[in-house]
Amino acid sequence: MEIASFTIERVQQGLRAREFSAAELAREALRFAEAENPKTNAFLHLCPARALAAAARVDEKIARGEDPGPLAGVPVAIKDVIVTKGVRTTCGSRLLEHYVPPYDATAVTRLEEAGGLVLGKTNCDEFAMGSSNENSAFGPVRNPIAPDRVPGGSSGGSAAVVAQGTAVVSLGSDTGGSIRQPASFCGVVGVTPTYGRVSRYGLTAFASSLDHIGPFGRTVHDAAVLLGAIAGRDPLDATSAEAPVPDYTAALDGQVKGLKLGLPVEYLKNLTSETGDLIARGVEVLKKQGCEVREISLPATDYAIACYYIIATAEASSNLARYDGVRYTRRAVGADTLSEMYRATRGEGFGAECKRRIMLGTYVLSAGYYDAYYLKAQKVRALIARDFSRAFEQVHVLVAPVSPFPAFKLGEKIDDPMEMYLSDIFTITGSLAGIPCLSVPCGKTAEGLPVGMQILTRHFDEPTMFRLADAFEKAGGAAGL
Ligand code: GLN
Repeated sequence: MEIASFTIERVQQGLRAREFSAAELAREALRFAEAENPKTNAFLHLCPARALAAAARVDEKIARGEDPGPLAGVPVAIKDVIVTKGVRTTCGSRLLEHYVPPYDATAVTRLEEAGGLVLGKTNCDEFAMGSSNENSAFGPVRNPIAPDRVPGGSSGGSAAVVAQGTAVVSLGSDTGGSIRQPASFCGVVGVTPTYGRVSRYGLTAFASSLDHIGPFGRTVHDAAVLLGAIAGRDPLDATSAEAPVPDYTAALDGQVKGLKLGLPVEYLKNLTSETGDLIARGVEVLKKQGCEVREISLPATDYAIACYYIIATAEASSNLARYDGVRYTRRAVGADTLSEMYRATRGEGFGAECKRRIMLGTYVLSAGYYDAYYLKAQKVRALIARDFSRAFEQVHVLVAPVSPFPAFKLGEKIDDPMEMYLSDIFTITGSLAGIPCLSVPCGKTAEGLPVGMQILTRHFDEPTMFRLADAFEKAGGAAGL
């Protein structure tokens, strides 16, 4: 079995032709993941019992002649900030090293109902805070394409397993770019759906007004199938949307002629690197397919990073208050009083980046600074969202880079948080506006490093985003010129 290159369609075809059973596929996928994982450290732990039980259910359905579901037999990996009943969920943190959740995230329940096999949990930056996966308490992930480089973050493990072939698809989470940026660095497709499109129930909260669950795949089609399986209203998440879920695969029809594309001038003006060249070539490919291109201005872009790091840290400081040593397993030993126990638990449990953000968030929410920082940031967020609404009065889609640079070397930016925060300069705006966006492979630099192209659309217009990405992928990306 050439499992490393399997797509969802290939899995389904194999099951239908009785080339393999779901149980055989699960065993092979687990064996392969265990053998290959030391090269990247992308999986933190596997859950063979769970994968085999799900495979047995798929095989029984097939034997009874029932429809086993759109993800039948598909090996899936789950970012370790998404809870899984009975399977350790660490959030990349020492604090939760031994935490075993008593329930499943809705997205996990749904993908298993669709026949998916959860193979294991993937490495990530601690509580999804980071852009390189180097903030994980369990060691960094190596980029499968260039092992001396980072896979991006925070969903570095989920991008790496798909690039490496140790899972067919995976789930990640995005707050400011954590799906698109690692997808770009690893050369896979990564989707941040509209805010509220996928239930956040069971996604460990980082910044609740920005957190999204979304899929990774080696093809646009695979990511579209996975999103279709997990999307939709969930009574357990009050922010999940009522909007009906269309058949995303039906949008992959190549009909992109006449589509109006906008190029954000603020994103491209300083981009003179190889990344900029590849995106420019990608845009030419889309023009060749009949898309109309014009420049668009998103004037509030310059304030996006400052705005994000106020709102995200404010929400994080509140969300992370729950890790107090009383709940969630870890408690420091030897403290004499309650407040000493809180301090010691949090002091030894959280890594440096989490502490930095809790302090910053507490500061911007404090009585004396709330208006100057938090309130101001909320106003800027509204301006950023307005920029997009205005843009989408003129064009259907925006096309942009994902990151200003390709995967950087392990250790290269770890001592400079500001430099690290700049990784997300092009992704944060879409997250703040809550619009759907994805990264699709565009091409590679001379050194062979993948570069992703970002496609952003109106709220709930995932079909147009997928349609364009799929047409671009089929044309061969920037090489299709
Ligand atoms: N890299 C950004 C951060 O560090 C985004 C993280 C994310 O999207 N979870 O906050």
